[in-house]
Amino acid sequence: MRKKWMCWFIGLALLLVLMPTVGVPVWENVTTSKISEDDLSKLTEAVTKEMTQQKKASVSVADVKSRMQVNVQRKDPDKKWVFGTAVIQAPKEKDAYPEGWLYVAKMEGEEWQVALEGSESFQNWMQDAPSTIVNSNEKKVFANRSSDVKVMADQDQLRLPFAVGATWTLTGGPHGYSGQNTPYSSLDLAGGNQQVLAAGSGNAYAMCGNGLGWIRIIHANGFATDYYHLWSNIQPNGAWVDAGTFLGYTGTDVSCGGYASGRHVHFALRYNNAYVSINGREMGGWVFWAGSNAYEGYAMHGSTVRYPGQGLYNYGALAPNQGIVDVMGSGTLNVRSGPGSNYPIVGTKNDGEIVTIACTATGTTYTGRSKTTNIWDRIGNGQWVSDAYVWTGSTSAVAPTCN
Ligand SMILES: [Zn+2]
Repeated sequence: MRKKWMCWFIGLALLLVLMPTVGVPVWENVTTSKISEDDLSKLTEAVTKEMTQQKKASVSVADVKSRMQVNVQRKDPDKKWVFGTAVIQAPKEKDAYPEGWLYVAKMEGEEWQVALEGSESFQNWMQDAPSTIVNSNEKKVFANRSSDVKVMADQDQLRLPFAVGATWTLTGGPHGYSGQNTPYSSLDLAGGNQQVLAAGSGNAYAMCGNGLGWIRIIHANGFATDYYHLWSNIQPNGAWVDAGTFLGYTGTDVSCGGYASGRHVHFALRYNNAYVSINGREMGGWVFWAGSNAYEGYAMHGSTVRYPGQGLYNYGALAPNQGIVDVMGSGTLNVRSGPGSNYPIVGTKNDGEIVTIACTATGTTYTGRSKTTNIWDRIGNGQWVSDAYVWTGSTSAVAPTCN
């Protein structure tokens, strides 16, 4: 009860503080004590130049210039290298979200040279940077990324960003990082104990200059996840976090701009340093499907459908060789003693059951919801099911051929 009053009080206080600025965008000042004012203004100029040259931001050059916030998180003792976040702050209004990148910069002569997350030089400089700037774990994770357009991995191996076994409300279906924009990379979630947890392990960063509201985790498999609007978030500064690590509470924080009508986490998926569509992708045992409009769409676990406003049970992350039984709305899936319909039925699996595939073989062809295939999955000793009725994220076999 007391907590609730506190929320109201804080909300009211915030409202009063923000009231005079409504309609007039006021960008946070760049604040850091790590480098001199002069160095920082040169650095900000260099980051802005790099960002506009690379056309990184989705806003105009003028907006990049006026909204840019360059945060220095680490500095080499001899000042030759810095590492931090570069954020284009958003207006404090609905469907506006900040954009942000990690950056690494080095002083060459009197000039800062800047590499932004996603560029080839970023990848190289992260390896070249001294250990005071980039730790060994970060070097490993960032070595696996490339600015080249690569085929996106079928499986992200992520859970939903709250406790496994808990059910939270999908308050907003697939939408853009900035609301209406595409790709639809983001979900809004709230509920339970409101504790937002890491969807996967990786190196974690607070993106905003004041360290509040927005966490990004760079996962080792090429994916990254963003969490925004957090209250009381951790200050990881690149530290490795395990899947399920507490990141912060759902909230309405808009430290880098934007708007939140009520407590939630804005959870977004990135791959190779850019937001990617979550359409047809699985997290926490749910496959997300975009609607024709932002915030619509639905999630499926087997044949179970959940729409925005409904609850999602967090099944945890699927292993690469796991799948979800989908019998397309009726009955159960026959388990046979061998890889084909000519083998006797030895059991059944229910819709939504998660199965682990030891190895695969080819047999009778079937057509399921997401694929037509002759692949059969061995899910136990003498237990086989058609892969057509198992959602694995892939139309190919996800386990090796059986001997
Ligand atoms: Zn959102």
